[in-house]
Amino acid sequence: MASVEQAPAAAQGGTGIPVENPATGETITTVPTLGREDVHELVARARAAQPAWDAIGFDERGRVLRRAQKWVTDNAERIIATIVSETGKTYEDAQLAEIMYAAAAFGFWAKEAPAFLADEPMKSANPLVKGKKLVVRYRPVGVVGVIGPWNFPLTNSFGDCIPALAAGNAVILKPSEVTPLTSLLMAEGLRAAGLPEDVFQVATGDGATGAALIDEVDFVMFTGSTKTGKKVMERAAKTLTPVGLELGGKDPMIVLADADVDRAANAAAYYSMNNGGQVCISIERVYVEAPVYDQFVAKVTERVKSLRQGRSDGPGSIDVGAVTFPPQLDIIDKHVRDAVRKGARVLTGGRAGNGPGMFYEPTVLVDVDHSMSCMTEETFGPTLPIMRVGDAEEALRLANDSPYGLQASVWTKDTRRGEQLARRVEAGAVCVNDAQVNYTALELPMGGWKSSGLGTRHGAGGIRKYTQQQTLLVTRFAGKRDPHMFPYKRRTTLLLGKLTRLLYGRGKRD
Ligand code: NAD
Repeated sequence: MASVEQAPAAAQGGTGIPVENPATGETITTVPTLGREDVHELVARARAAQPAWDAIGFDERGRVLRRAQKWVTDNAERIIATIVSETGKTYEDAQLAEIMYAAAAFGFWAKEAPAFLADEPMKSANPLVKGKKLVVRYRPVGVVGVIGPWNFPLTNSFGDCIPALAAGNAVILKPSEVTPLTSLLMAEGLRAAGLPEDVFQVATGDGATGAALIDEVDFVMFTGSTKTGKKVMERAAKTLTPVGLELGGKDPMIVLADADVDRAANAAAYYSMNNGGQVCISIERVYVEAPVYDQFVAKVTERVKSLRQGRSDGPGSIDVGAVTFPPQLDIIDKHVRDAVRKGARVLTGGRAGNGPGMFYEPTVLVDVDHSMSCMTEETFGPTLPIMRVGDAEEALRLANDSPYGLQASVWTKDTRRGEQLARRVEAGAVCVNDAQVNYTALELPMGGWKSSGLGTRHGAGGIRKYTQQQTLLVTRFAGKRDPHMFPYKRRTTLLLGKLTRLLYGRGKRD
């Protein structure tokens, strides 16, 4: 299915999902909710189309992906308009974190897929396989189901489809019911780039549509909340279908006394408020060493106070956009209210904006601690709680006091010490004097520890997960019978025992 109008007949008569512009409250359109039968039909079409897509090889697939890359840059304004309309984010958040990401990703996977998935000739030290050809190869799994969230409809929903396609799979994308339009537009883009029919399809719908997809596909790539991620894994276990899970986070920022306070404050304001704070790798909490705490808080508050919030009216019009998903507004407010009730102070913001549209004021909280949900649960909004700490060890202990482990940052002019501290943070990625930009380096694996996920995207692992690894052993020169074959003979058995001792039993041990 490539567009709303082309939804399966069965879905046309079913319930529809209204898609709203969160910055205005207007309904943009309605998309169908696909049921189990519809999903089954899409998967059958995908299965029929996949072998030919695999057979055309990396070069031909790369050509399609590079044409799609050009389509993205040629149609950037249209894609940005679609993303902005269904998410309420700023023009800049759509351009930098979505268009630039997707354009880069098409080129990256077109170029790197052949190397990441090339046959790997192996050598073994084991005498039993001496002289034999040993190869590891990667074969596409078949049909990949991608289930995505609403915060980055291009980068975090569609983005994971690109390596899956590059590997030779057919893909069915189930976008968030909140933001399905970007995915439908990308289906049009892939068609324009010459992608064969049914190799990429979009299954619009809700959680039940996602669950139906899990039952049918060969790999599930899920990005979303930890709560749903657990359900996805449980469901996939019924068919023993492998999953990749990119889940929630509560990223800590540790500011040491010798940090460049201006840079740290600018980064804290930006990386907590960009995309309205709705970034899985947002800075969600800050720990600042006492000597620079007051200075840091003053600078951050000044930056945050100056942010312009509202409906995007093109480049440079606003800094912070809307809250995309209605229930999120309540979660953000609940975290702020809980903190205030327990003694926190609001230095700026602290309220939902006045309608129309869904906004929460960019908010800075101080006098916070780990008894407050704003420091322990994912807020996923434009809030920044800042906590004073006695030293780096206290900051590290608090940073690691979390069920999440997605990303973190350490700020210090002593980069050696910063890196040492970074290595002790329990997170899949840690930046020193930076945040978030590691995500743009597609060579770097990205994935959460603890409750933040399972597996990685990007890098070699980001495409190999969409394949089945197969080992090949080819014996070219051999006798009629190898010594270890039947019948067992005393002499051979004793000889093999001697050989084992010779190979592995000699030498001194401590
Ligand atoms: P969500 O878990 O509510 O929904 C994600 C997707 O799962 C949606 O498409 C939804 O329809 C689908 N879904 C819901 N129930 C399902 C079920 N039972 N079976 C299958 N699919 C089901 O998440 P959200 O609110 O859309 O997104 C926000 C969350 O995503 C945040 O926690 C954020 O941190 C996380 N996120 C993580 C990353 C990352 O890379 N780690 C990136 C972006 C967002």
